[in-house]
Amino acid sequence: MAGEPQDDCLFCKIVAGLIPATIIRETATTVAFRDINPQAPTHVLVIPKAHHMDVAALATEAPELAVDILRETKAVADDEKLDSYRTVFNTGSGAGQTVWHAHAHVIGGRGMQWPPG
Ligand code: AMP
Ligand code: ZN
Repeated sequence: MAGEPQDDCLFCKIVAGLIPATIIRETATTVAFRDINPQAPTHVLVIPKAHHMDVAALATEAPELAVDILRETKAVADDEKLDSYRTVFNTGSGAGQTVWHAHAHVIGGRGMQWPPG
């Protein structure tokens, strides 16, 4: 069921403390941790503790959590002292989504190109 922990979900396991992660922020509803394969000096993932498969599902199933995620992306940027940064939600495998638990990438600390690849 939407929102329930999934046994086979990597990010649910991080929320549960079953897999280690470098957690830099936590709220009642969210966790922020460093990406294991950083694409920039700052690369942090912000996730809801509840399992929703992507940001589109999150917005439909638990819109208040979508707002929590966006608020936390700003908090991460402030903590990391980023004036400019990119917030990315890859949605679908064609867009590069590989983990099916909604997450925002907060990427910064270097110059960036547009459009993204
Ligand atoms: P996406 O490809 O948008 O689904 O993003 C998934 C991200 O999770 C990738 O950037 C991975 O590098 C990252 N990732 C995978 N496993 C871990 C892990 N154990 N701890 C932290 N980040 C991870
Ligand atoms: Zn999950």
